[in-house]
Amino acid sequence: MKQLILSLALLSFLSLRAGAEEGNTSFNQLLKHITTVSPEALAVPEPSIDKSLAQNADGRFWVTVKASDARARTRLLEAGMDIVEINGENSSGFAGPHTMDILSSKAFIVTNRMTIAEYAASQGKDFPAADSAYHNFKETTDLLKQMAAANSDIASLFSIGKTVEGRDIWCLRINSSAKGETPSSKPGSLYIGNHHAREHLSNEVPLLFAAWLFDHKNDADIKKYINTLDIYIIPMLNPDGAEFDIKTGSYQYHRKNMSTNSDKSRGVDLNRNYDSWWCEAGASTYPGSDTYCGPKAFSEPESQAVKRFIEARRNLKTHISYHTYASEILYPWGGSDADVPAKDKAIFEKVGAEMGKLTGYLSHKSSEMYIATGDSCDWAYASGGIFAFTFELDGRGFYPGAAIITSTVNKNIKAAVYLLSVTDNPYKAI
Ligand SMILES: [Zn+2]
Repeated sequence: MKQLILSLALLSFLSLRAGAEEGNTSFNQLLKHITTVSPEALAVPEPSIDKSLAQNADGRFWVTVKASDARARTRLLEAGMDIVEINGENSSGFAGPHTMDILSSKAFIVTNRMTIAEYAASQGKDFPAADSAYHNFKETTDLLKQMAAANSDIASLFSIGKTVEGRDIWCLRINSSAKGETPSSKPGSLYIGNHHAREHLSNEVPLLFAAWLFDHKNDADIKKYINTLDIYIIPMLNPDGAEFDIKTGSYQYHRKNMSTNSDKSRGVDLNRNYDSWWCEAGASTYPGSDTYCGPKAFSEPESQAVKRFIEARRNLKTHISYHTYASEILYPWGGSDADVPAKDKAIFEKVGAEMGKLTGYLSHKSSEMYIATGDSCDWAYASGGIFAFTFELDGRGFYPGAAIITSTVNKNIKAAVYLLSVTDNPYKAI
């Protein structure tokens, strides 16, 4: 059965590639490739222990720990735990050996633990080939180039910088009058995916949003946005990590980038590396932790690239940073219990609630879940006054399969278009 699934997946992969090579960039055809993948290929593969993970065990565990409120969850983050799920008084997520030592003290109650290989098996996740409808770095790059070439009157593509391993961080710009890195005074909106490697769905949403915008560029409202706004889409901020996560044929549950740390462990948590209360509450100074904040703020080329990009574009007004998975929309502050000033708080609440209606996601202040410092959206709001939202997309687990792409993308396009509708002046939203 597995071989059948793999060969079907390979066929769908080849047909997707073939479509891409023919210059097929329309949104509907991209989705059709996803939805015509056979049901067997879309099914969650049968569980099996991930041998490469077991052999290359990085010592991480999946743990469930008692944490009754946001303060207790913040302490877990500081111990180096990467909180993935919150269910009432229980928080679950990844913890490395150093964190496991801390969690074994009397200050914490661990109610469940399993090795990462056992966790992978319990999730029933196996070879990424079954998820070939997702775009890897090369496919993302090819599609962005094709979309920019096919819509050269309104689109341009450029790299905002190189990653640790030298990959380009691509930015697709949609603007009827300015191209490439030429500044614009039109109000700007920025969409970024894939801060975190294993959150592959967070690449699909902004990537397919771009395809949708081109398909609908002659609709009256979309035409108006393209003519009057400066739209930037960076679907894959952490391609090194995303490629590492899939390259063995087994998912690695990798979150961070691919920096080599002082203790030879791998990766900095890019969403703890921004200079907003950097490495205070809710971040870990331990390099092996999944929430490691890095040796200093903006130590990483990927976060530096975003910093340069935003600081050079004072016309940016709105922003979404896509993550998975909680079905939530989060807004500042994430690094403090405090509220942003009342006038802006009202905008965050209203715009967040409207996007919540369109997606079914719960919109709230980020720190209500836990405090996490060094966050990209806190920094974007603090440094540029940008109305910046973190989207935790829907789906259960980091590898929800290809079948979820269509519904998640469609509802998120509605929210992204709503954000465009208020980008000329977010204060008009109330
Ligand atoms: Zn994330």
